[in-house]
Amino acid sequence: TTFADLGLSEEVLRAVADAGYLHPTPIQEQAIPVVLMGRDVLGCAQTGTGKTASFTLPMLDIMRSGRARARMPRALILEPTRELAAQVGENFAKYAKYLRFDYALLIGGESMGDQIARLNRGVDVLIATPGRLIDLFERGGLLLSDVRMLVIDEADRMLDMGFIPDVERIVSLLPRMRQTLFFSATMPPEIRRLADSFLMNPKVITV
Ligand code: AMP
Repeated sequence: TTFADLGLSEEVLRAVADAGYLHPTPIQEQAIPVVLMGRDVLGCAQTGTGKTASFTLPMLDIMRSGRARARMPRALILEPTRELAAQVGENFAKYAKYLRFDYALLIGGESMGDQIARLNRGVDVLIATPGRLIDLFERGGLLLSDVRMLVIDEADRMLDMGFIPDVERIVSLLPRMRQTLFFSATMPPEIRRLADSFLMNPKVITV
């Protein structure tokens, strides 16, 4: 299988080639066509498997095909740590280089004022840790009504870090009509229960 077989656009394929990726990894091969079809995904995969590209690449093409209203965020990626969020942001920028999509990195330890200014300039994707996202929402600086795609990454680490109540609150703020991608390295019962409550008829992918 090549990346071109998976249904991605020319712009995304060019960025992938620039990144030096020759072949999709197993999670990419399985997840990308399913995400492009609009289906929910429950992915059992660790960091290092290429999981970031498995959700970011199809996300770019889904956003391309839809119309944005006044540059409101249309996708939200939740990460358990600042470091992971920053890494996903770097990858997003790399894969989006031939498209005009921008992201905001909403993580703790950095100025809320700067993050609000960034949001006010208009972004397409939010990459956030749960606590900071809630702080910004409570300040009234965040509009989530156009979010059509949600990625919950490293769900088991969110659980270990005590973030599940925050994640549940955030999901309750999002439109119900959305596509949700849920990734976890392990699937203990608590995570499985959470996945069941967030996902609709997901394709289960284990790598
Ligand atoms: P991730 O599991 O998303 O953290 O990705 C792990 C690393 O693999 C990152 O440094 C990616 O840039 C790299 N990577 C992702 N997909 C591929 C691929 N298909 N071929 C080669 N490297 C990749």
